[in-house]
Amino acid sequence: MAKIFRMKCPGCGTVQNMTATGPCKKCGALLAVEQPAAIALYRMGNFMGAGSGFGLYLNGEPYGAIGNRESLVIPLPYGQYKLHIVCGLSRKCNDPIIDLTPEDPYVCLKVHMNMGFFQNKFVIERVDPSTMPQT
Ligand SMILES: [Zn+2]
Repeated sequence: MAKIFRMKCPGCGTVQNMTATGPCKKCGALLAVEQPAAIALYRMGNFMGAGSGFGLYLNGEPYGAIGNRESLVIPLPYGQYKLHIVCGLSRKCNDPIIDLTPEDPYVCLKVHMNMGFFQNKFVIERVDPSTMPQT
């Protein structure tokens, strides 16, 4: 399975999956997956909401969705990013702040849902890259 890059076009704002650098499917701008830093995300398998995508937000901007047991990489410039995840009525999330720096450019995160009695809550935890599924 090829690595999936989740890109947001800086020109038109379209969020799309890519496997390599190439043109935006909407406006044709060149989207380079070779960025200095990246966030890798893996959604752990879980049976609640298995059929629906979890919506991803980075610094408040929508970044598409992640499906059950899906993994993707978001190439990004260095900076500070706040990750937020929503699914249906579940909007509770631990909203981690991720600092991408030259010393720490590649951050791997696993996402799962903790089922609560009143409300489910998303938990995003940083993991060692070696524990990510191999693609
Ligand atoms: Zn575009």
